This record gives sequence, C-alpha cells and structure tokens, in this order.
Amino acid sequence: MASLIADLESVVRADGCLHRAEEMLVYECDGLTLHPAKPTAVVFPRSREQVCGVVSVCRAHDVAFVPRGAGTGLSGGAIANDGAVIVECSRMNRILEVNAADRYAIVEPGVVNADLSKATLAHGLFYAPDPSSQLACTIGGNVAENSGGPHTLKYGTTTNHVLALELVLPDASVVQLGSPSGFAPGYDLVGAVVGSEGTLGIVTQATVRLEPIPERVETLLASFPDVVSACRAVGGIIEAGLTPAALEIIDRRTIAAVEASVYAAGLPADAGAVLIIELDGAAVSLPAQVERVRQISARAGAAQVEVAADESERQRFWRARKGAFGAMGRLAPDLYVHDAVVPRSKLPEVLDEICAIGDRHGLTLSNVFHAGDGNLHPNISFDRRDPDVLARVLAAGAEILECCVRAGGVITGEHGVGNEKREFLHLVFSDADMDAMKRFRACFDPDGVCNPGKIFPTTRFCVESNPKSRGYDRVPFE
Ligand SMILES: Cc1cc2nc3c(=O)[nH]c(=O)nc-3n(C[C@H](O)[C@H](O)[C@H](O)COP(=O)(O)OP(=O)(O)OC[C@H]3O[C@@H](n4cnc5c(N)ncnc54)[C@H](O)[C@@H]3O)c2cc1C
Repeated sequence: MASLIADLESVVRADGCLHRAEEMLVYECDGLTLHPAKPTAVVFPRSREQVCGVVSVCRAHDVAFVPRGAGTGLSGGAIANDGAVIVECSRMNRILEVNAADRYAIVEPGVVNADLSKATLAHGLFYAPDPSSQLACTIGGNVAENSGGPHTLKYGTTTNHVLALELVLPDASVVQLGSPSGFAPGYDLVGAVVGSEGTLGIVTQATVRLEPIPERVETLLASFPDVVSACRAVGGIIEAGLTPAALEIIDRRTIAAVEASVYAAGLPADAGAVLIIELDGAAVSLPAQVERVRQISARAGAAQVEVAADESERQRFWRARKGAFGAMGRLAPDLYVHDAVVPRSKLPEVLDEICAIGDRHGLTLSNVFHAGDGNLHPNISFDRRDPDVLARVLAAGAEILECCVRAGGVITGEHGVGNEKREFLHLVFSDADMDAMKRFRACFDPDGVCNPGKIFPTTRFCVESNPKSRGYDRVPFE
C-alpha cells in the first residue's frame, strides 16, 4: 500500500492523491448510496500523460482503477469495487477549442456540462444534452453514461453529440476514435465507448457537437388533475406531429416537496401533476404550436396552461424540474431514483402499476420524469437505517423494473447499469448477449481492471427469474 501511494504520488504529486481513511469517506459512493465501497486511493490527474502514468502504476501494483467525474451518477458506476483506485478527472477541466465554423468543441473530461454551453454562448451555440445535474456533472461522466436530459426528446442523448474521443486504454496506451467531422471509417467505436460506463478505458478528451441556439423558445406549464391525464396530453402532442424540445412531468408529491424547498417555483399546490412543455425553433413557427399545445392539454383535462412571459419565468418553471431531486430531501433522508423506459403509449398504465407497487410495499413513491421519451424516474423516499424499509425499497425496485420490461421497456434510460442493476440485466439480455458484450469489453480490457464489477451480473440468476421462462427475452444482438 505505501509503495502504491508513493508511486501514484510520483505521477500526480502529493496534492493530487488522497488515501487517508477519513478522506476516502466522500468517495465511498456516488449518487447511489445503497452500496458503499472504500477506494484504496483517489488520484486527480491533470493531463493525459498523468492518466497514463496512473494506469501504469495501478497495473504494476495489480490494482484495479475506476474513472470518475463529479460522482453524481445514480447507478453506482463510479464506486470503487474491490478496493480499486479512483481516477477522478475533475482537474482536467479545460475547454481546448470551440470551433464555431464546424460547430464542435474539444474538451477535457472534467468540464462541467453547464460550463460548456456558457462558454459557447458568445458563438450562438450550445451543447444540447442537459442532465438535471448539469451544474455539477462532467462531460466524461456524461459520455460514459450516455446521459440524457429534458431536451433529449428533440436533440437526442449524449451519443448523438459525441464526434470523437481520446481514450487511455487499460494497458496505458492512448487511442483516438472518430473525427471532428463526425465521419470515420470502420466500426463505430465512439458509439461503443459512449454508454460503456467507464469499463473500456478513461476518456481524456471529447470532441462534441454544438447546436445553434434556437431563435425563440416558448415554455408552457400545464396543470392536470392527475399524472395519467398529463400523460395523455404528452401522447396527444406527439400524435399531433409536434416535436417539442422537452415534455417533463412532475407529480403531486414532487410538487409538494419542491414548493417546500429552496427550489419553490409557485407550482399550483392543488394540481395532481404539472407538465412542462418547451417548444423551440424559428420565431414564426411557434405561436401556432403554442396554440395547438394549449388545445391538446385542455382536451386532456388541463385546468390551467401558463406560458412563460419571459426568460425569468421560464427559468422558474425549470428550477422546479431541475431542483426536484434535491427537493426530495424534504421527504426523507434517502432517495432511490429509479430509471427505466417504456413506450410512451404505455405510460398511463405503467404509472398506475408503479404507484400500486409503492402502495403495496407501504413506501413513499413520487414521479418526476422525461415523459416525452417514456423515461420514468419513480423515486422512493426512505430511511435506509431501517432494514425492513430498505428490504421493501429493494423489492419494490425489482418489481418496477419487471413491470417496465413487461410493458416493452428497458431497465435504464440514462443512469446506466453500474452496480445497481447488474443483477437485472437478464431481464433484457440473454446469456448469449451478455457473453458477446463481455467479449467486446475484453478487446479493450482483457484483464478486467477498468471499473471491475460493473454492468454484468455477479451471480447467476435463478430459474424463476429467467426472462425466457417469462417470455420477454428480447435478444437484441441476434
Ligand atoms: C440531481 C441529479 C439529477 C440527475 N439528472 C440526470 C438527468 O437528467 N439525465 C441523466 O442522464 N443523468 C442524470 N443524473 C445522473 C448523473 O448526473 C449522470 O449520470 C452524469 O452523467 C454523471 O456524471 P459525473 O461526472 O457525475 O460522473 P460520475 O458519477 O463520476 O461517473 C459516472 C460513470 O462515468 C464513468 N466516468 C466518469 N468519468 C469518466 C471518464 N473520464 N472516462 C471514462 N469513464 C468515466 C464512471 O466510471 C462511472 O461509471 C442525475 C444525477 C443527480 C444527482
């Protein structure tokens, strides 16, 4: 241990390496607090060369390593299984180039998501993927998780915005993948690295697509008697051929938590749910769309539809949505944020079933989610110090995932599998799929030293939970 630390410090200096027990406490988990694990050390490289040096030291000492950004992940992806060394990229936070003519930026992995759009504002450009954690989370973490956000509906997830990557492989060599033009011959390895949850190597540079800032944005807040009617409005808006930039639902319990918190935004206290609808594009095209959305919302049962009068009112609506998870701290000390996707048309029935699951287990369950994408976030507020409650939270979580998969959905939309959902991978993949993915991973990391223990199940699933016996094994790789 002492010689490992000395060697790591020789690469990143003493002020770039933490290893005392009390210092490790902060790094025991990410946004998922259910499975804490202590790293052996945390290093903060400042350059690609230092990342390579750290990886070489880890290999020489036969220690695994885990890339980490801001630690906001919600699936335990940045947790150091097996006493690994955490390689935190937050000090590699330079925006290296903004190319307005070709509409891309080259950034280091530790650049905070929201800072990139701030930096490109003067060029009339923005970086579209906008996770609700964007004031903290990093581009490296976004790439690894293929993060989405409220504007995923129109603009796509991170994978639609990454043109090229520089990756330090687990043998400490460096590869360049993709190209700033977005065209690259051969296999789409950029696409493979995006969403690989830090298991293929450490991203040390990303070239990302920038979008022109839309000429005009209209943001509406519609209040409904219940979540189901808000979902119907979502279906109606899409069916009408509109493509809003965002369609986000906040349910009654979340509204109450938000309004009791610093994120209070004056949401209607008597609403069963609110729907935020954002439309953007050419100014001339928006008034008719706003009117159409009003009509559809009214038909679905909206009691009221407000249109943000100015930017500060628009920010007020978004503060409620983006602060919703933080506001949940009002309800209980712990929050389990679930993440699953269902076909949009199935939202009403799936939400009913999810609420019934929460009730059956006697849990406080609330919903705030990317309704336009069918990307659900059932949130369970609880106190993990009570083992009985914790057991019920986990049981309800499993049932929620099964319910979403039965409805034709998948087990994660944007938070990844990480430690959290690896035992549920069999709900959507067969053994053959998982073996194929493991073989692919081994091309990058044959010894399994980069973020070990993530994504793939660590136990064999029992016969009753075998998806084939339930008839919903989709086998997408066949
Ligand atoms: C309040 C809140 C709201 C959120 N809202 C959203 C949302 O709207 N949409 C969404 O998609 N997510 C959301 N998240 C989840 C989280 O913010 C995202 O997954 C985010 O991309 C994680 O970024 P990070 O920098 O914190 O990464 P970390 O949590 O540090 O790491 C996440 C994963 O990325 C890997 N990784 C990190 N850096 C690198 C690198 N340089 N190279 C290779 N792998 C790397 C890690 O190993 C880990 O597997 C939310 C989280 C919170 C707490």
